[in-house]
Amino acid sequence: MEKIQLLILGSGPAGYTAAIYACRAGIQTVVYEGLVPGGQLTQTTDIENFPGYPNGVNGFQMMEDFKAQAQRFGAQVRYGLATRTDFSARPLRVEIDGADWVEATAVIIATGASAKYLGLPSEEKFKGSGVSACATCDGFFYKGKDVAVVGGGDTACEEATYLAGMCRKVYLIVRRDVLRASKAMQERVFNTPNIEVLWRHRTREILGDANGVTGVSLDNDAEGTVVTKDIDGFFLAIGHHPNSEVFQPWVEVDEQGYIITEGKSCRTNVPGVFAAGDVQDPTYRQAVNAAAAGCRAAMDAERWMAENA
Ligand code: NDP
Repeated sequence: MEKIQLLILGSGPAGYTAAIYACRAGIQTVVYEGLVPGGQLTQTTDIENFPGYPNGVNGFQMMEDFKAQAQRFGAQVRYGLATRTDFSARPLRVEIDGADWVEATAVIIATGASAKYLGLPSEEKFKGSGVSACATCDGFFYKGKDVAVVGGGDTACEEATYLAGMCRKVYLIVRRDVLRASKAMQERVFNTPNIEVLWRHRTREILGDANGVTGVSLDNDAEGTVVTKDIDGFFLAIGHHPNSEVFQPWVEVDEQGYIITEGKSCRTNVPGVFAAGDVQDPTYRQAVNAAAAGCRAAMDAERWMAENA
């Protein structure tokens, strides 16, 4: 069985930053890219809020740059997905792609989170050309335009309020007749004049043409009718799903599945196993935070290996 010093699972900003720091500390490091090589940023368009890129950068290109930087210091980057884990003994064991097991002295889990989607074919079709799951990332492109946000939680309210600051009109599509969001967040929505809440509405289909999204067709459950709204952007805010299942037999998670880390560190409850980025961060969920967590995870792993391995 192959023996690896530091195994990093996931290839978003957390995984690659951890690899850069670990390799520069002289640790033999292997990165398995996971289901979406490069992570969630490869599924968006331009990134304009990552420091160091004054003119913005394409998300896919940025992740290629992260990868090249990690490889420059010796990280071995491989295709592959962790499918099973055995953290019951040392060395730690991880199965890749349902086939071979590898052994590692330390593991950094940086498998990220996935935005939940409604599951409509039109949503898939317009992903990246009008359909987005991140207002902070993509809202700027809809300046002065009309958009819709679907969801009724804190994220939906926060994103609707954020978008209202730059868009002409924001429709908030809510499937029930109440919001799940905190009272304070609800007040912000109700006090923002260019947000219109569409109570008891469900999305039937996102409409568009070769240039992207042009509208949305909705079931108005309150009146039993179908309505269409003209919009340029459709934002999903119905929750995220941390990619932690494969580690859950061993690693402690919260009620939503986010991996629990100790204080400011990236240490999990399993010695030698660390977690960084969106898989352990339900709150900040931005690339720059994930990168910072990757750095912390590598430093924690380095210290742990020096003391224990
Ligand atoms: P939540 O799970 O809290 O809310 C998801 C929302 O999406 C609900 O209103 C739900 O409707 C709706 N929804 C789910 N599935 C569908 C669907 N298929 N069609 C239509 N609507 C759907 O997720 P959030 O991302 O909003 O929040 C996650 C956690 O993060 C929460 O604990 C939240 O408080 C926290 N958070 C805190 C913030 C802050 O404090 N600043 C900011 C953002 C998040 P329904 O209500 O009917 O179930």
